[in-house]
Amino acid sequence: MTLRAGALEAIRDVLVPPRCAGCRVAGAWYCVECRDGSDPITRTLGTVALTATGAHEGPLRDAIHRLKYGNEPGLAAELGALVGSCIAADLARGIRMDAIVPVRLHPSRERERGYDQAHALALVAGRATGLPVLTAVHRLRSGLAQATLGQRERQDNVRGAFAGVAGALRGLRVALVDDVATTGATLLDAAAAARACGARGVRAYVVAFEE
Ligand SMILES: [Zn+2]
Repeated sequence: MTLRAGALEAIRDVLVPPRCAGCRVAGAWYCVECRDGSDPITRTLGTVALTATGAHEGPLRDAIHRLKYGNEPGLAAELGALVGSCIAADLARGIRMDAIVPVRLHPSRERERGYDQAHALALVAGRATGLPVLTAVHRLRSGLAQATLGQRERQDNVRGAFAGVAGALRGLRVALVDDVATTGATLLDAAAAARACGARGVRAYVVAFEE
């Protein structure tokens, strides 16, 4: 983190004191008690091993909702740290990863929201693990808002929705980072784009998994 970004965050925290998105306690965007309340979940989606920091319910769901829709990018620090600790745990188990790749929003959606939550989470996880963050995979179109779609439509909507910079991930084992996985369709699509950029291995890490 640059000094300037740190200073801005400090100023923001004074102007808008953080309050836990889970239990409303003052002093943190997502407090230690709420963080400790969720257990990591692992799944295999097609060819991609997925790790979520917890289930998409309770305080974690509230925190993600506020990160995405409540204009509270400060939550990315706590939630990104959770994702980073899951990646660090896998690195400690000897799983090799060379870079983190955020599952980015379409630029039009990012402009609307003012920030890209997946990119913000990835930057925090990158700082926590020392892995570089490469924005090699891009969303081709904004599509319909995923939250308004049913499961079947959701899969149709995201098919072929990503493209990557040719060769940008050549030979790398990458960790995709996103906020929520539901059907996993978005992650599988992003994984295919990462492989098309030359990635030799793809894992995925999300804040929450929705069964
Ligand atoms: Zn809390």
